[in-house]
Amino acid sequence: MVQASVACKKALADVTAVCPGRDRSYDGIIGDDAHQKRKSDHNSGNAFDLTHDPEHGVDCHFFAQLALLDYRVTYVIWNKKIYNKAAAAKGWLPYKGTNGHTHHMHVSIKDTLRCVASPWPWASLEL
Ligand SMILES: [Zn+2]
Repeated sequence: MVQASVACKKALADVTAVCPGRDRSYDGIIGDDAHQKRKSDHNSGNAFDLTHDPEHGVDCHFFAQLALLDYRVTYVIWNKKIYNKAAAAKGWLPYKGTNGHTHHMHVSIKDTLRCVASPWPWASLEL
């Protein structure tokens, strides 16, 4: 049984704490059955999707930048682009997956840090 990582649960809870009225339609940690067939950090509970909802404070253009500041994060996919911290010198690169991630951003984290529940960069925002 796959467990959602503590770090990913904390990430989404921290967003909800600062933006309680936000849309969560695309939120998720564990992949659905279709997702489980693909290689994905969701399958190990080491990734989360955050719904883009700028009207309620969650603008993923901004949150994607914040996510990259967190030491647990390996890569972020948002709005047809991907930023892999292992190749940070390249910056944001075109993402060619079938899902353009225009309604949510995807954040993957390091397996070794999945139990780290420290606050995410957005936890102290006043939106
Ligand atoms: Zn995802």
